[in-house]
Amino acid sequence: MTANKNPEESCLFCRIANDEIPSQKLYENEDFLAFLDLYPIAKGHALVIPKEHSHCFEEVDVSKGTELLSLVKKIAKAVKKATGAPAFNIGLNNGKEAGQVIMHTHFHIIPRFENDGLKNWKNKTYGEGEIEIYRDKIVSELEKK
Ligand code: ZN
Repeated sequence: MTANKNPEESCLFCRIANDEIPSQKLYENEDFLAFLDLYPIAKGHALVIPKEHSHCFEEVDVSKGTELLSLVKKIAKAVKKATGAPAFNIGLNNGKEAGQVIMHTHFHIIPRFENDGLKNWKNKTYGEGEIEIYRDKIVSELEKK
């Protein structure tokens, strides 16, 4: 077990990453940890976290992004096989309004079954000319330094 590089005393996931609080570990290496969510949306619901603390996705160090994505994929495949789920959701709740409860960036891997009672997001529609306005605003943000 490698000690967390930037432990935050009050952060539950830093404490889990630091082995101060036990968890149902699935996998870990120097930079990342995967473990089972104690309050699963479905049994087998797994979490993947960077051990280095970041409050939100925007703060995540992306220098090891490929490794992180590979791990999310590896855990998702294992969860799918182990639970017999035909499908899964990968999610990241970023910010309180998006449903983030633990303020340490984490990916959810949720096994899904037909008629499992979970509802997909409800789609909305744009008004006349509205989609272009949103596109222009986002493109404008992307073009800023
Ligand atoms: Zn943390």
